Amino acid sequence: MGFGFEKKNQKSKIWAKQREEATLTMLRSPRTDGLLGCPRRGCGELLGGVRALTFHLHIHAVSAGAYACVRCGGAFENARELVRHACARRRARGT
Ligand SMILES: [Zn+2]
Ligand SMILES: [Zn+2]
Repeated sequence: MGFGFEKKNQKSKIWAKQREEATLTMLRSPRTDGLLGCPRRGCGELLGGVRALTFHLHIHAVSAGAYACVRCGGAFENARELVRHACARRRARGT
């Protein structure tokens, strides 16, 4: 009965970039067997679909030393996104 969608949507924003890249990879993929090759240089791992590739790309971002928020555990590919995410804004600006 409860509407828990809003929270879920917030969390999925963290994945939006990876999902977009995974979707693009699928659209450009020359393969016909449903597998998707990781677009990252030197990886080329084959994933079983957009969802798997999205997760895989997320792991790349995190393991590549992505900027992680210690408060919410969100991982971001650059400092700008880390600063932009809602959690950082809560930080008091005043001294
Ligand atoms: Zn990869
Ligand atoms: Zn955060």
